[in-house]
Amino acid sequence: MDNKTIAGIFDEIANILEIKGENRFKILAYSKAARIIEELGQDLADIYKKNPADLEKLPGIGKDLAQKIAELINTGSCAYHKQLLKGFPMGLLAMLKIRTMGPKKVKLFYNQLGIDSLPKLRQAAEEGKLQNLPRMGKKSEEEILRALDEIEKYSSRMPLVEALNIAPAIVDYMKKCESVKRVEYAGSARRKKETVGDIDILATGSSADKIIKFFIDYQEVANVIAHGDTKSSVILNTGVQVDLRVVPEKSFGAAFHYFTGSKDHNVALRQRAIDMGMKVNEYGLFKGKKQVAGKTESELYKALGLVYIPPELRENHGEIEAAEKKQLPHLVEMEDIKGDLHLHTNASDGSHPLEKVFKAYKKAGFKYIAITDHSPSVRVAGGMDSDGFKKQWKEIEKHNDENFRVLKGTECDILADGSLDLPDSLLKEMDIVIASVHSRFGMDEKEMTERVIKAIKNPLVNILGHPSARLIGQREPIALSFKKVFETAAKNKVALEINSQPSRMDLQDIYCKTAKEMGCVFAINNDMHLLDEMDNLQLGVSIARRGWLGKRDIVNTWSVEKLLEFFA
Ligand SMILES: [Zn+2]
Ligand SMILES: [Zn+2]
Repeated sequence: MDNKTIAGIFDEIANILEIKGENRFKILAYSKAARIIEELGQDLADIYKKNPADLEKLPGIGKDLAQKIAELINTGSCAYHKQLLKGFPMGLLAMLKIRTMGPKKVKLFYNQLGIDSLPKLRQAAEEGKLQNLPRMGKKSEEEILRALDEIEKYSSRMPLVEALNIAPAIVDYMKKCESVKRVEYAGSARRKKETVGDIDILATGSSADKIIKFFIDYQEVANVIAHGDTKSSVILNTGVQVDLRVVPEKSFGAAFHYFTGSKDHNVALRQRAIDMGMKVNEYGLFKGKKQVAGKTESELYKALGLVYIPPELRENHGEIEAAEKKQLPHLVEMEDIKGDLHLHTNASDGSHPLEKVFKAYKKAGFKYIAITDHSPSVRVAGGMDSDGFKKQWKEIEKHNDENFRVLKGTECDILADGSLDLPDSLLKEMDIVIASVHSRFGMDEKEMTERVIKAIKNPLVNILGHPSARLIGQREPIALSFKKVFETAAKNKVALEINSQPSRMDLQDIYCKTAKEMGCVFAINNDMHLLDEMDNLQLGVSIARRGWLGKRDIVNTWSVEKLLEFFA
């Protein structure tokens, strides 16, 4: 468990205690500890692993809090926190997540008006009932309404990275249940969509009763909202809803398919079944009353005259037609990635020295990496000048060996006029040059397109970094004629980056297929600043798979020789 999660739980404890009107000092102790943990430059788990007694020595962390931290690290939850959550209205926790509201306001609204959910809060605000309460006013009431609008727009779905933390962990937990024969997660998490709504879990086994009981005993469950014979819905501590369905073994494939979606894919497949004189639903594929398929997904597709369609392609974007003609692409897989071409070290804004990054990648089985620290204009990110890079090259050369290549590179800034901020004479000496937009995001489409095109026409540029420059939930994509950019990139042998940072996920999946058809190649990069982020590469691979990309479309699945020859 990381510091951020632990701090979040301590914050939540402080908030609940405050709403419950508990002892002032106790509340302060938790909120203070949360701040300290957030700003601690060191991982609590590391400190604990070295010497558990050291936790107590941290400022603001006494014996009691040290025990709770140890409990969180060891078990993933804390009994005291769970006890506080029991019977505590979930709606109050949701209200705490509103930007302009702290525990004091939540408590006030709850005590004075009995508001314990977001819908009730909205109703009261719309009826003007909040503005007359102490320390409130018309303005604060309007702010709350605006914040509610924002929440409804963004937080009904979680980012993929969060879903991929939650869903496989539940599946692993459910596998420990003796009655379970098979368990999987379905839904948009399985299709690896950029954002995911609820988590859907499917299980089959000997006793639905026991499976459901085991499920609601999961340590992360905060509330059980529905509990039936074959279905249960719960809310996790994080506020995420998880639905479990227990299905008969002979229907598992059909249910797995049905609950994976997408809706459009399912509708198209249902029509196909009808056209073939059959009927498909979550129980199976039927001819009259007889089930002809449904135990596995492959069997289902086969009976409908199709090859197996990977979940990432199930959007009714031509995958059914391609499956009929056996023309589905062989999608890239995580194992295909041989190198990472976008990494930062502490020479610019990364957290680790080159040596540590190099060792981690070598150990993880990669064949090559490119070190691509920032160029001088990205001053906030510690961008380097020519001397800095030349100094770095000496260290890079030290690490190079036959089995593992460290490539000299940079993430070079594209200035407002489309020129680069490092001299060609320096870039010429580099193996990998990424060009990225990091400023003046507001340009209109014509200006911005010209800017980017000028940069990628520079023969020394190899990769266009995070092409749309969006930050999910924070910054909209820049205005760009993607068609013109793709055309130029293809012609100039510039690879389009698929940036794996959870806040970027850029290039987006929806553009990959078009760009590929226009002759573009891609680089699935981490853009790593922190070694903890290494696993994010799987997000990039998901984007590529949803974008119909195969191994040969991705330059960093190639050997380092082929890669350098292509960019030469
Ligand atoms: Zn960047
Ligand atoms: Zn970067």
